[in-house]
Amino acid sequence: MQKKKRNPFKIIQYLIICPLFLFFAMIPCLTVFADTPYVVVIDPGHGGENLGAEHYGYTEKDLNLVVAKAMKEELERYDNVIVYLTHETDEDMSIKKRAEFAKEKNADLLLSLHFNASVKHNLYGTEIWIPAYDDYYVTGRTFAEIEMDLLTAKGLYSRGIKTKLNDSGKDYYGILRYGSELGVNSVLIEHCHMDQENDLSFYQEDREKLISFGKTDALAVARFLQLSSEELDEDYSDFELPVVSAPEDGVPVRPDTTVPELNQIELLSVDENAGEITVHMHANDRDSYIQYFSYSTDGGKSYTDLLNWPRLKWNLSEVEHEFKINSKEGDELQIITRAYNGFDGFSESNTLKIKVPGPVTETAGHAVTSAEYQKENLKEESFITTIIPKGLSLQDKLALLIQIVIISSFMTLIFYLMIRMILILIQDNRRYREL
Ligand SMILES: [Zn+2]
Repeated sequence: MQKKKRNPFKIIQYLIICPLFLFFAMIPCLTVFADTPYVVVIDPGHGGENLGAEHYGYTEKDLNLVVAKAMKEELERYDNVIVYLTHETDEDMSIKKRAEFAKEKNADLLLSLHFNASVKHNLYGTEIWIPAYDDYYVTGRTFAEIEMDLLTAKGLYSRGIKTKLNDSGKDYYGILRYGSELGVNSVLIEHCHMDQENDLSFYQEDREKLISFGKTDALAVARFLQLSSEELDEDYSDFELPVVSAPEDGVPVRPDTTVPELNQIELLSVDENAGEITVHMHANDRDSYIQYFSYSTDGGKSYTDLLNWPRLKWNLSEVEHEFKINSKEGDELQIITRAYNGFDGFSESNTLKIKVPGPVTETAGHAVTSAEYQKENLKEESFITTIIPKGLSLQDKLALLIQIVIISSFMTLIFYLMIRMILILIQDNRRYREL
C-alpha cells in the first residue's frame, strides 16, 4: 500500500494555529478569574429578640452589630473584595438563613461575630470555633491562626482555636454545620468574655474598643485572602499563610475530651521573712495544652480564680511553672492545684501540707521532695534555735535559757557526785581486801 504524502506546511500550520487558539480562548477566562472579587459575608451574632449574652448593661447583639459594621467598613477599603452583612439592622435570623444568605452571595468566607459569657463567669479570653471536617477545617484553621495572632497581640488571652461536635458527630455550632453543608467556609469568633473582669477593658468604656475589634477582624481577612489596598497603602499579596495539615477525608478533628495527664506540685521554698511560699508545678496535656491553672490552700474547699499558664504559642504550653502563695507564721496550708486544658477539662494535683514555719509533714499522691526547703532550714538553725522554739519573746527566751543552764548544771553535779561515789566504793572495796 502506498502511503499518502502529507503536506508538511499543513502540519506546521496546525502546530501554530492550535496553541494560538487555546491562548486567545484562555484570555477571557483568565481575566474573569483575575477580576472576580472575593466575597466575604459577616454575620453579626444574634439580633432582634435574640439578645445573646447580657452583662454589665451591655447586650451581645448590639456589640456584634457595631463590630460587624466596623469590620465591613474597614474590609471595603481593600481592593477586589465584596462584603455583605447577613443583617444590617437589629433583627433576628435563623442560623440556617444566615448560612443560606452566604451561599446565595457565593461567599468565600462566612464569619459569625460574637461575644462570650460562661455559666460560672470564671472563664476569660478569646476563642475561635472552626468546622471539624475536611477542607472546611483547613480553611477555618488557616484563617483562625491569623485572627488569633492579631487578637492575642491586642493583649487578649487565648482560649484557642477549637472544634466542637454534637451527639451525632457533626459540627455543634449551627453556623459551621450549615456552612459546610452548603459548601461555605465558615468561622465563629468569640471576641472576649463579657462577664469576666480580665476582659472588660477590651469591650467596655468606649465604642472605639468595638471598632478596634472590627478592624482586627478585617485585617485578618485581608491577610488571609492576600488582599491589597491602594487606599490604605497595604499589600498582603505575599502574606505567608500558616500551613495547616488536612484531616483524613470525613474524619473530624475531635475536641480533647480527656483531662491533663500530668499535674504534680512540690514545695520549692518557704520565705518566712517575705511571707511567701514558692510552689513548683508540672502540668501537661498531650492532646491539647494547658490553658489555665488555679490553686487551693484549704485542701480543695475553695480555689483561686483561673490564672494564666505560660505558653509559647496558644497551643504550645510550658510544662513547668512556679508560683508564690502569701503566708504568715502559724499558717497551716493544704495546697492543691488544678491544671485546665484547652477544652476546660482539669485535673488536680497531689496535696502539700505545710505548717509555716516547719517542714512538709505529709503529702498525698505523688512523692514530693522538699530538699531545698530542708537544706535552707538546716542552714539557719543553730544549736540554740533547735532547743529554743522560734516565736518566743526575748524575755521568755532569756528565762528559758536560764532554766536550761540551771537544769544542766544540776544534772552535771549529780552525775559528777555519782561517779565520785562509785570510785570511793571501789577504793574502799580494794582496801578491805588488802586488809
Ligand atoms: Zn453569641
